[in-house]
Amino acid sequence: MSYHSWLECIRGCGRRYSIYDVIYRCEDCGGLLDVEHSVDDLRDRSADEWKALFHRRVRSNEWPYGSGVWGKKEWVCPEVDPENVVSMYEGHTNLFWAEQLGKEVGLPDLWVKLSGNSHTGSFKDLGMTVLVSVVRQMMADGSPVRAVACASTGDTSAALAAYAAAAGIPAIVFLPRGKVSTAQLVQPLAHGALVLALDTDFDGCMRIVQEVTADKSIYLANSMNSLRMEGQKTVGIEIVQQFDWEVPDWIIIPAGNLGNVSALGKGLLLMRDLGLIDRLPRIACAQAANANPLYLSYLSGFEEYRPVQAQKTLASAIQIGAPVSYERAVKVLRSFKGVVEQATEDELADAAARGDRAGLYACPQTGVALAVLFKLIDRGEVSPEQRVVVISTAHGLKFTSFKVGYHEGTQAAVEARYANPPLELPADVDVVRRAIQARIVVGAGDRGAGTGY
Ligand SMILES: *Cc1c(COP(=O)(O)O)cnc(C)c1O
Ligand SMILES: [Zn+2]
Repeated sequence: MSYHSWLECIRGCGRRYSIYDVIYRCEDCGGLLDVEHSVDDLRDRSADEWKALFHRRVRSNEWPYGSGVWGKKEWVCPEVDPENVVSMYEGHTNLFWAEQLGKEVGLPDLWVKLSGNSHTGSFKDLGMTVLVSVVRQMMADGSPVRAVACASTGDTSAALAAYAAAAGIPAIVFLPRGKVSTAQLVQPLAHGALVLALDTDFDGCMRIVQEVTADKSIYLANSMNSLRMEGQKTVGIEIVQQFDWEVPDWIIIPAGNLGNVSALGKGLLLMRDLGLIDRLPRIACAQAANANPLYLSYLSGFEEYRPVQAQKTLASAIQIGAPVSYERAVKVLRSFKGVVEQATEDELADAAARGDRAGLYACPQTGVALAVLFKLIDRGEVSPEQRVVVISTAHGLKFTSFKVGYHEGTQAAVEARYANPPLELPADVDVVRRAIQARIVVGAGDRGAGTGY
């Protein structure tokens, strides 16, 4: 069976384009474009057959199906030739049972999807493998595309630079100067991308990259390009698969440009349409209070929407005031009885620290999602017997200065209740013993003189 996908205007005007067209908005009405699939063709396999196929491919060496994204190739990007796939075996990330944190907050069935445990340290790899593979196919087929470009809050540019480097395609990245972490800045530099640090914020970079990519030889890799969403939508499918095809009650996800929450919903809806699941989870979108246009719109039942000027936030990857995928996200939240909640700087930093003390290593964006979870528990919206998954979007190691600042107590607007600075002591065993005793109850075991351990 040959499956088929295409780009279609999300405003329902019906206009379609090829996934290989260099186009990001509908020529008729200006709407964004979504990838659509011939769902009727996909029904040629039963739900059980799809499950068995996806299961069989997990981490297999049969190129490219061992990747969490390409293991679902028929649902993601059926037409690209396997030899043009650019994959780093993204996906299949750990679904961590947060036993200690769950105990603390009275939620025994709490899980964290560690989607930042990936090649470039964030979930952005899931989408970038698809986009860069399609570009490689286009170039092989004689398209005028010569380079790829994106605006980024740090993780998109890292992923684009890595996948483009692996494919031998030049990359151009636009970063808001001084607003991404050191690790995020050095990633595209290391991969040889042209890094343009602009004196503006993410929204300002986004405006410029859209103008630059009016030149059709430079392909736009931001999430207004829905090829990325096709890869990202596998995260929800993978979570359900990891629970032996059981649907959790809640999925909580940090949100900025709103591509990821839209993708999450898209994957789950396709599963339902093909009969792999018969109910949907509820989705909670977590925003930083300093960059909260979706939250404000939610308060009006999505009747009103105004972009905001995003303020500085520790959750720098979601410091976005004019989210490109607003319309897509609202559709998803309506289908999933969605809620939107926000977290202050103090709340997100403490929540990340609590997660770390329970064995996570949470990035600040994951801190926003954890803080939102605690609020939903407090007001009884999430109840103790429910199964909840928090999506962790990046690896905490990308945000070392966030953590150092927290534990040194130097983060503005953060009280740092869980700060754990190092004790600096003289090299004296008695002082050391007293310091241990003050913190940890250790056995009375007097080892006696000279036992030499
Ligand atoms: C990109 C990103 C997000 C937000 O995803 P959107 O699709 O922009 O909503 C959240 N967390 C991290 C770490 C990210 O890199
Ligand atoms: Zn249209």
